[in-house]
Amino acid sequence: MDCLFCKIRDAEIPATIVHEDADCLAFEDINAKAPTHILVIPRKHIASTLEIAEEDEALVGHLHRVAADLARERGIADDGFRTVMNCGAESGQTVFHIHLHLLGGRPMTWPPG
Ligand code: 5GP
Ligand code: ZN
Repeated sequence: MDCLFCKIRDAEIPATIVHEDADCLAFEDINAKAPTHILVIPRKHIASTLEIAEEDEALVGHLHRVAADLARERGIADDGFRTVMNCGAESGQTVFHIHLHLLGGRPMTWPPG
């Protein structure tokens, strides 16, 4: 399967990894949209939010807990941050392996573009 984030998981493509555990990894976004912009991905290939199965519920919760830990590590937890998982063309999803964006370090606008 030709998946960019599976290749990063398998170290076939380099990335600046900031967290790794048995179920997920996190790395710096190559095109950061904020002072902190980290992607948290499950090791398991799941194409989009629409493909999350009942058995994946704990895994997806884990992605959020890892994002929260990274936000604390980066010192952005108190000021606030945003976690986003895009799904499908109109959301702007470009990589079809789910990833939680952790964005912070600057004020965010709402609604998003
Ligand atoms: P999406 O648009 O699917 O929600 O997010 C995909 C993200 O992956 C984008 O923010 C993009 O900058 C990032 N990205 C795309 N290719 C690479 C890459 O090769 N390495 C890293 N670290 N990030 C990437
Ligand atoms: Zn994948």
